[in-house]
Amino acid sequence: MNPFIRIENISYTYPDAGQPALDGLSLEIIPGSFVAVLGANGSGKSTLAKHLNAILTPDAGRVLVDGMDTADEQNLLPIRRRVGMVFQNPDNQIVANVVEDDVAFAPENLGVEPAQIRRRVDEALRQVGMYEYRLHAPHLLSGGQKQRVAIAGVLAMEPQVLVLDEPTAMLDPRGRREVIAAAETLCRQRGITVVLITHHMEEAARADRLLVMDRGRIVMDGAPRDVFTRGQALRALGLDVPETTALIQRLNAAGMALPADALSPEDCAAAIEEALCH
Ligand code: ADP
Ligand code: MG
Repeated sequence: MNPFIRIENISYTYPDAGQPALDGLSLEIIPGSFVAVLGANGSGKSTLAKHLNAILTPDAGRVLVDGMDTADEQNLLPIRRRVGMVFQNPDNQIVANVVEDDVAFAPENLGVEPAQIRRRVDEALRQVGMYEYRLHAPHLLSGGQKQRVAIAGVLAMEPQVLVLDEPTAMLDPRGRREVIAAAETLCRQRGITVVLITHHMEEAARADRLLVMDRGRIVMDGAPRDVFTRGQALRALGLDVPETTALIQRLNAAGMALPADALSPEDCAAAIEEALCH
């Protein structure tokens, strides 16, 4: 399959910064995939995200979105329509006093016809399970609900790619589950490509593909079950492994022989049961 996003050897240094934030990074993302990105603070995750929809453009190398170079001014609007971003703080993303007006904001700004906006707003709110809140005041919603409204605001542009930069960092466990479930549904049922930046290993474990960043580069790239078996290398980068993986590693160190790649709590429980009862 042709990649929807193609990043060719990009580097980027912020004005006045000593170190490059991105340092010769290449990456291809195929449509419909669910890609998670892990990395310690300052490893370049947000800078990479901002290159995916031309908020930033590289100093060297190039980024192609659906074949369009992000450095070409003419491509800005079509790229922004294709790649939507959701950030960490839901409060900074709310611009209107009524949920449905908030969701209509981005498509209005991107020049979508008014007749289409009504339909898109309703559909976007349904997709994230927030339709019944369409007339509510956003500031009265929970954090998880606010983030789902923010996602709906992006969906109303009918993007092909949804980039979520630590969307759950400020949420409680329930809010985290709501937001990740919404993103997963959009990927699995709607075919939207999801790029999820997170520091929650359990969230990353649900992706098809896991990238690990360090000092502006991608240093690991594989299926979560493969990446998470590299516990020592991850710890050296300041990262953990999911609780399930840590549990299995400890049990194996104590003499059991469990499969190292059982990641979900269900698989983990089944592996332990199998070992103990058979
Ligand atoms: P992450 O999202 O993984 O925490 P960032 O992409 O935010 O990492 O940052 C990568 C590097 O760029 C860090 O060294 C950070 O200090 C630097 N950086 C990020 N934003 C800015 C900025 N606006 N100005 C200068 N340096 C920045
Ligand atoms: Mg960041």
